[in-house]
Amino acid sequence: MNYKHFIDNTWVSQAGNGEIPVFDPSNGEQFARIARGNDQDIDSAVWAAKKALGETFDGPWGRLSPVERSQLLFSFSAAVLERSNELAELEARDTGKALKTARTDVAVLARYLQFYAGACDKFHGETLPYTTGYTVLTIREPIGVTGHIIPWNYPMQIFGRSVGASLAAGNACVVKPAEDASLSILRLAEIAAEVGFPPGALNVVTGYGHDAGAALSAHPGIGHISFTGSTVTGTLVARAAADRHCPVVLELGGKSPQLVFEDADLDEAIPAIVNAVVQNCGQTCSAGSRLLVHRSIYEQVLERLTEGFSRLKAGPPEQDLDMGPLVNAKQHERVRAIVAQAKADGIKIAARGTIAAESTSTGYYQEAVLFRDVPPEHSLAQEEVFGPVLAAMPFDDEAHAVRLANGTQYGLVAGVWTRDGARQLRLARKLQAGQVFVNNYGAGGGVELPFGGVKSSGYGREKGFEALLGFTSLKTIAIKHG
Ligand code: NAD
Repeated sequence: MNYKHFIDNTWVSQAGNGEIPVFDPSNGEQFARIARGNDQDIDSAVWAAKKALGETFDGPWGRLSPVERSQLLFSFSAAVLERSNELAELEARDTGKALKTARTDVAVLARYLQFYAGACDKFHGETLPYTTGYTVLTIREPIGVTGHIIPWNYPMQIFGRSVGASLAAGNACVVKPAEDASLSILRLAEIAAEVGFPPGALNVVTGYGHDAGAALSAHPGIGHISFTGSTVTGTLVARAAADRHCPVVLELGGKSPQLVFEDADLDEAIPAIVNAVVQNCGQTCSAGSRLLVHRSIYEQVLERLTEGFSRLKAGPPEQDLDMGPLVNAKQHERVRAIVAQAKADGIKIAARGTIAAESTSTGYYQEAVLFRDVPPEHSLAQEEVFGPVLAAMPFDDEAHAVRLANGTQYGLVAGVWTRDGARQLRLARKLQAGQVFVNNYGAGGGVELPFGGVKSSGYGREKGFEALLGFTSLKTIAIKHG
């Protein structure tokens, strides 16, 4: 299969910049090619989006009323659900994720589209008190053309939360999916066209980050950028956008801690801790990849986790085991090198899972690994692995736990396991993170809940109503009437 860009509701590959091979992570074989977009392709997409909006929001997309946008988004969501199997299979083949994970991604995408469809006609400005003789009001306008740079780990969910919210707010979108996960996003743009989105409302340009991604970040026609990806790339995108004062939402990496206190309900906590780090083969920005346990129950918790980790299996996506392969050869080598380095540095492995016998030797499989007594300053406790690797360490008291938890450059999410209500509230306040889960982990998956980081995990919020407001521009109108 040869995939082109999807611009103005048409498949195009006009810039002739070459192609990028697409590999199946379960066996390393090439099965498709995508277009390698460049600045000309991005330019075409931005102009298509501008045309859809019109000079004064009078274009075929710009002039639609909120309720008309809402109806289109509801139709989009329904069409996604109707094609659930097709989309999940495409995603599993392209990214290696287990089929059940890909199915969840489709369901969550459909929920995002429904949520934002429902919100289109429910956000509004205000009237403000001001000097006598004036009426002052605010209105929330679309920003214009928004750019969306998407990573490979949850392409459909991230499309839903950023593109869904932006379309609901009345913007036209140019999307640059990751070079390792473009197929579902291209299909989604095609489905949007099928359900009636006018040409130019939603455009997808595929390609490498340093070509198409950089061109999108720097394009003067883009009024807002939503970037989800690594901290290093986020810095580059924000820098390019700053040159022309373009607002950016950065959803970056994490090294999220789970804190387990001596009074925790371990029957609840243990499965959640395992799932939080192996879900999507650990390629989750909010993975609970650091485990901090009160010293009095440290051995007990490790024993139970050892049991859990030993049972974990990685295997082909269609077998729906605990994990599929990692996304690509580079990520595979990277995770293996991190595990090897930690071992070479003397850090002990408490448990590891297995790779299913049916897996090919050429696939990018990585078994789950539980490291114990990880020194807090070691890179294994500081840097994102983006693989199914958990770094466990003990703490002595609450203050120590907070110090360890906050002791990285990141601040995306955090989990706290304790039955003590006062401690729950204290910790929720003290932990530096965009979301704190108490006696659960991963509630951030809820489409209604604002999500984003602090420190090097980024800024701005996506998901929930908060995201919708972020995709609007607030205008204040002061009328003097005497
Ligand atoms: P990445 O930064 O390499 O790539 C992300 C996207 O940016 C891709 O589409 C890529 O093509 C593009 N890109 C690369 N270089 C670019 C450049 N110079 N200019 C513009 N765009 C460029 O990240 P990745 O490896 O694909 O994804 C993994 C990272 O994403 C992890 O660090 C993870 O934590 C993070 N992530 C964060 C969230 C979140 O919501 N906070 C969600 C998912 C992933």
